[in-house]
Amino acid sequence: MGGDTVTVTGWVHEIRDLGGICFLVLRDREGFMQVTMVKKKTDPDLFDMGRRLNRESVVLVTGVVKEANQAPNGYEIIPESVNMLSEAESPLPMDVTEKVGADIDTRLDSRFIDLRRRTTLAVFVIRNHALKAVRDFLANEEFIDIQTPKVVAAATEGGTALFPITYFNREAFLNQSPQLYKQIMMSAGFDRVSEIGSIFRAEEHDTLRHLNEATSIDIEASFMDHSDVMRILERLVHDVYEYVSRQCVPQLEALGVELTVPKLPFRRLTYDDALAVAQQQGHEIEWGDDFGTVAERAVGNAVGEHYFITDWPLHIKPYYTHPREDDSRYSKSFDLMHPRMELASGSQRVHSHSLLRQRIAVCGLDPDGFEFYLKAFRYGMPPHAGWGLGADRLVMTMLGVENIRDVVLFPRDRKRLSP
Ligand code: ATP
Ligand code: MG
Repeated sequence: MGGDTVTVTGWVHEIRDLGGICFLVLRDREGFMQVTMVKKKTDPDLFDMGRRLNRESVVLVTGVVKEANQAPNGYEIIPESVNMLSEAESPLPMDVTEKVGADIDTRLDSRFIDLRRRTTLAVFVIRNHALKAVRDFLANEEFIDIQTPKVVAAATEGGTALFPITYFNREAFLNQSPQLYKQIMMSAGFDRVSEIGSIFRAEEHDTLRHLNEATSIDIEASFMDHSDVMRILERLVHDVYEYVSRQCVPQLEALGVELTVPKLPFRRLTYDDALAVAQQQGHEIEWGDDFGTVAERAVGNAVGEHYFITDWPLHIKPYYTHPREDDSRYSKSFDLMHPRMELASGSQRVHSHSLLRQRIAVCGLDPDGFEFYLKAFRYGMPPHAGWGLGADRLVMTMLGVENIRDVVLFPRDRKRLSP
């Protein structure tokens, strides 16, 4: 390597002008490269141009490689030419060197530049590997990856706020979940389907763990019950942690994160158990209530690791949730919890056409509006189960990130629609 002539491209990360010697530090996604110009040896025009570069400009440098102990990667380049490919304006909208902190809004307003920061890049490299681990895991388990429509005519669950859009001369909505379509795929005989895609929720959230557009990892599997798909889910989470801890050592180090791979199997608390824990901690919550954020945290702190809450009261779960055969006040459902928040919800689904029609009506919805879905239950629908896992929440909890906006490239919330 030493003595070779090379050409490198990158952003001008830093310029250290010491008078007689000037260091340019170039940056690309792999790291840093030092370009060293010595006044007495470098062509004067080149020296002058180099020291006057604007930070964050994109340049192409050709020069000879030399070993240099002091340089970031043990080498420096003695330049023969520096070509400006794209000059950056000055001042910059925000600092890239991480010496100066910036609040989340400033960072998101100039996301392209925020993403040049080492730590922000590290988050998205890890996110990429986490989702690769998810895809590999599901492919190994013989799930068929599908893409269902995001523009739909009807609400999946009613109730939940939807984003209406104009579809030619009709009203349509952005889909809040692939639920109905992945179930239809069970009738289609696909056995096991998975989808990683956007879900849209129009609730006016103002929290650190909700966005109005999120990424969901969904599965649906035939001839399985809720326990079967819980086992798939915990193994998946385990594998993602393991894969990331092996593949992302430099990124985890950059973020100062020490990953602990969660142990299998995850603890299972029934809803009644979890309720008792919350009540013991002084939370006023009654049977049949959903856990509020604070009660959820209290149970999470008591457990201290990933866990499931199973056997939810039927009436607080969606109509497609299967009742328990022995006691229909309860359902064959679960939430996967990280101590900090919910990561996934799943269940065995109702596969009987008549029961499903009835459940839709009991939940206050009009079964006729669901005919496209119900039709798939009338001509041979196997028993099936599935879950939806929030990809953003999986990544944020894994990395101990406070704000979901930090793990989404261009987050969409009530206030933010751009960039
Ligand atoms: P929560 O009670 O936390 O608002 P939920 O029960 O409404 O979530 P589900 O409909 O069960 O959410 O969706 C399955 C998973 O998708 C959730 O466990 C979560 O990880 C993720 N998810 C749902 N809504 C959002 C959102 N608005 N922002 C980010 N992730 C979400
Ligand atoms: Mg849920």
